[in-house]
Amino acid sequence: MQIPILKKKLNAIVGFHNLPNQVHRKSVKKGFQFAIMIVGESGLGKSTLINTLFNAPIAPTRDNVTMNRGNTAGDQDAASKTVDIQSFTSDIEENGVRLKLTVIDTPGFGDFINNADAHKPILKSIEERYEHYLDQESRVNRKNMEDNRVHACIYFIAPTGHSLRQLDVQFMKELGHKVNLIPVIAKSDLMTESEVAAFKERILDDIRANNINIYTPEVHENDDPETVQEIKEIIARIPFAIVGSTQTFENPPGSGTHVRGRRYPWGIIEVDNESHCDFVTLRHMLIRTHMEELKEHTNELLYESHRAVKLGERGIDMSSAMNPQKFEEEKRAHEMKMNKMEAEMKAVFQQKVSEKEKKLKQSEEELYARHREMKAQLEQQRLDLEERKRRLLAGGAAPPRTGSSTPKPKGLFNK
Ligand code: GDP
Repeated sequence: MQIPILKKKLNAIVGFHNLPNQVHRKSVKKGFQFAIMIVGESGLGKSTLINTLFNAPIAPTRDNVTMNRGNTAGDQDAASKTVDIQSFTSDIEENGVRLKLTVIDTPGFGDFINNADAHKPILKSIEERYEHYLDQESRVNRKNMEDNRVHACIYFIAPTGHSLRQLDVQFMKELGHKVNLIPVIAKSDLMTESEVAAFKERILDDIRANNINIYTPEVHENDDPETVQEIKEIIARIPFAIVGSTQTFENPPGSGTHVRGRRYPWGIIEVDNESHCDFVTLRHMLIRTHMEELKEHTNELLYESHRAVKLGERGIDMSSAMNPQKFEEEKRAHEMKMNKMEAEMKAVFQQKVSEKEKKLKQSEEELYARHREMKAQLEQQRLDLEERKRRLLAGGAAPPRTGSSTPKPKGLFNK
């Protein structure tokens, strides 16, 4: 039954208009968390892009040999290795807002002679992260839950200018419904503007033809026209043609203005210039406008469908979660079961306590009895000795010691 909601006008301000500020303060205090995965062959500029995005040396790059990257599969025997999963977590801060950023790198992807199963370790890692979250959700104490789920996966397409390769199609097909997949054209500075435009078309054709699911920001009903326009501009640039670089150059020379980019004999390709590449739009979407939406999409759609399948496998009927009446019935049945179990446990506990009490009382009584017996024996010995002493003092023969007939007291300690 639908309960009617009545619209009421307040006669005076009561203060709940301040709720957004309360939420804001609380979230700033708590800090934010975001996990981003980077996938693509070695050398396509994955680490450089992360460092360019956050303007900090977060991921070790090939140029930066002083940073220990561990054993990347690309350095090893190309025929025998598998894809590795490595993650780096950094705490970064901007204007008092803290962000715990986790970057999950996948070295080795696409680097081997046979890449048929290259997507599998990555899919496994994403699913394991969902499983870990699901396990935490099922715990009695759900405080301090750790969210290791991947919120966005940037897939690097090599700047071949042709179309998607088998490796790209397979990965994107398998992972597109598991994670927010964001395809990018790596090192787009190696192509001309028209080559990039034609390549984008072919990639989108392949995405459509193969039914690949990629992350596309959504326009919501109550979005203002400016936001709608912004979202349309983002969508128009997918797949993002990116250039990554943390190097700065004075451009134009002698102007005193420094820009991040890559230098060529004919000029500088600027990373932060929207007419040179799509880096700014990608960063805008990832960090400035859609980070929360990517997290929400992960939680409410991608994780939720994984959860429904897993709970289904475990035999928990998800329809009860959708049907409030059934949910209430199951809740009541569960509560009754728990109450019964509690009563049974209480009874068992009570019985054990009274048994223990009985035993303690019994051994206490035994102890008292032995104490009394020992006391009586000692008293008898004392009286005997008194009697002997009296007779000796009176000059008479002392009666034989009764020690042989009076047993030594069986003390508590002389067993
Ligand atoms: P990863 O192995 O995919 O993480 O690649 P790296 O980020 O370590 O970069 C590999 C090489 O490509 C380095 O020499 C980078 O300077 C270079 N590189 C990174 N991004 C770009 C780019 O957008 N354009 C060009 N031309 N080179 C790049």
